[in-house]
Amino acid sequence: MSVFPVGTDIPRQYSIARMGNNILLSVKKHEFGKGSSYLHNLNKGDTVQAVIDINPHFHFSKKSASAVLIANGTGIAPFLGMIEQNRDTTINLFWGGRTVASSAIYDDILNGIISKNQKNKIHKSFSREGRNGYVQNLIIQQKDVVLKTVQEGGVVMICGSLAMQHDILDVLENLLSEYTKIGLDELQHNGQLKMDCY
Ligand SMILES: Cc1cc2nc3c(=O)[nH]c(=O)nc-3n(C[C@H](O)[C@H](O)[C@H](O)COP(=O)(O)OP(=O)(O)OC[C@H]3O[C@@H](n4cnc5c(N)ncnc54)[C@H](O)[C@@H]3O)c2cc1C
Repeated sequence: MSVFPVGTDIPRQYSIARMGNNILLSVKKHEFGKGSSYLHNLNKGDTVQAVIDINPHFHFSKKSASAVLIANGTGIAPFLGMIEQNRDTTINLFWGGRTVASSAIYDDILNGIISKNQKNKIHKSFSREGRNGYVQNLIIQQKDVVLKTVQEGGVVMICGSLAMQHDILDVLENLLSEYTKIGLDELQHNGQLKMDCY
């Protein structure tokens, strides 16, 4: 969604999730950021100017029986809606944040949507707490799940920071070349790898 904050002509883009009749955004507040501060300072009932820019390349494939969703930080937003709306797909969500507290804002939604499909799993890593470090370490730990999803024709979707995307692609490429005959390019070409990073 492109939001037009008051006081600037340049729209700011935010990934959105559709949750029932609501649209959900997850926004990181930048101290001097005009768009994120504008959203942060909104009050209940305020109206914002915004348009939906459809991103056809980043839609959940309803045909896939399984999916691996990988996000860091606010990149989790679109996945919350996708998990909610696709209850027949087996989904493994990998999420990386800084601290346990930073994931708490998503816990109610995550627990709600996970409880509706017992096959779904959430894997979290915290870069400043615990032992898992960054989200790519979770992918290495859970490589069997990731490889199984790829080999059975499921999708891998990545949303969040460009730095994280880069690290995940490195890990994926190594796993694919070590354990499969599928290349990263092939995965992307046949629609099994989808990315929306910023
Ligand atoms: C496809 C896409 C999807 C996105 N999805 C999301 C999302 O889901 N959630 C999300 O949080 N973001 C998302 N973003 C990023 C978002 O669009 C904005 O770039 C982000 O919110 C920062 O915008 P801003 O207006 O707050 O900061 P800006 O005003 O654009 O400032 C950018 C940076 O400069 C710093 N800065 C600005 N002015 C000063 C100053 N005077 N002195 C020092 N530093 C300064 C700010 O602190 C900030 O870090 C997405 C981007 C893209 C392209």
